[in-house]
Amino acid sequence: MAELLTVDARHPDRDTIARAAACLRAGGLVAFPTETVYGLGAHALDAVAVRRIFEAKGRPASDPLIVHVGDVADLAPLVHEVPPIVHALAARFWPGPLTLVLRRAAVVPPEVTAGGETVAVRVPSHPVARALLAAAGVPIAAPSANLFSRPSPTQAAHVAHDLGDRVDLIVDGGSTTIGVESTVLDLTSVPPVVLRPGGVSLEALREVVPDVRVRQVEADEGDTQVSPGLLLRHYSPRTPLTLVDGHDLVARIAAEARARLSTDVRRLVVLASSGVLAGVRSALASAPAPGEAVGHAGRLTFVDLGPDADLDALAAGLYARLREADALGADLILAGQVPGDAGIALAVRDRLHRAAAGRVLIG
Ligand code: AMP
Ligand code: MG
Repeated sequence: MAELLTVDARHPDRDTIARAAACLRAGGLVAFPTETVYGLGAHALDAVAVRRIFEAKGRPASDPLIVHVGDVADLAPLVHEVPPIVHALAARFWPGPLTLVLRRAAVVPPEVTAGGETVAVRVPSHPVARALLAAAGVPIAAPSANLFSRPSPTQAAHVAHDLGDRVDLIVDGGSTTIGVESTVLDLTSVPPVVLRPGGVSLEALREVVPDVRVRQVEADEGDTQVSPGLLLRHYSPRTPLTLVDGHDLVARIAAEARARLSTDVRRLVVLASSGVLAGVRSALASAPAPGEAVGHAGRLTFVDLGPDADLDALAAGLYARLREADALGADLILAGQVPGDAGIALAVRDRLHRAAAGRVLIG
């Protein structure tokens, strides 16, 4: 099992960080918190160490990694050139949840870029990630520290559950604050394109890059990924998840729950924001599924995704709730999509959509 090192998220202990940094420099795998999700880190310029990331996660080699650096000044050696827009973006969003895709320098091993000519880079803001980068003195390649295609980890316990026997160290800095991955912005296209919505909103990006576009096309599994987050089946629980989107969510989720419980589904989880969930609960209580009790003891369990009016809070708990729903061992998770496209909504909608892997009921 990996050794678990607990640190204070705001003021991580120097000696503990020094140990983790030494492990990274020596080619080890270290899981650590960032402000988005936990990362599975390796020395980015050590191809052998980077290959271990793919083995540990069961991640296809066609899926490139994000390289984390401590400062925008550390970018230069990794990329072909630093276009002026990088400085404007860095001034506004770094350190923070924005990943930039640039043309790579030869020093970056092809393992990191999935053989491609571009590299994704980010300066994280989490004090533990920053301390680790400073102590290691090398760029750290780090995808999310989960098994490939599963929900990303937002707590050290999630990492231990997925990868406990496959990594050297897990640095536990508590729950991550943003809870969904970084926004990935491809600066090699004209105009720049958001490949994956994330912690930095589209509105905020537009203030610096007014003509920014959003990529809608979903890549097929197995292709070389421009952005790993683009795989349709991603962030998914093992339990099949069907997503209900559109108008009349409460009535449609309740109707679908009733229909499925009286046909092919023995145990069902309903996963939705607090308000939607309350509505579904009372709709089903007034007309329960045939002959069955409603609640934890019965065939139906409700998992609250978080407040309807505070999607930042909902995002912070999203993956933990997906994991909880998955752990109930149900036949089906019926999830309610969140509305809107402002702020973090775009990223939350994207993750729920991918968790459903195409099973979406649109009303
Ligand atoms: P993960 O952190 O597990 O979601 O995986 C790393 C992330 O890196 C993916 O979601 C991609 O969005 C991003 N990424 C890494 N390298 C590239 C690249 N060369 N081009 C585009 N996106 C990349
Ligand atoms: Mg991931």
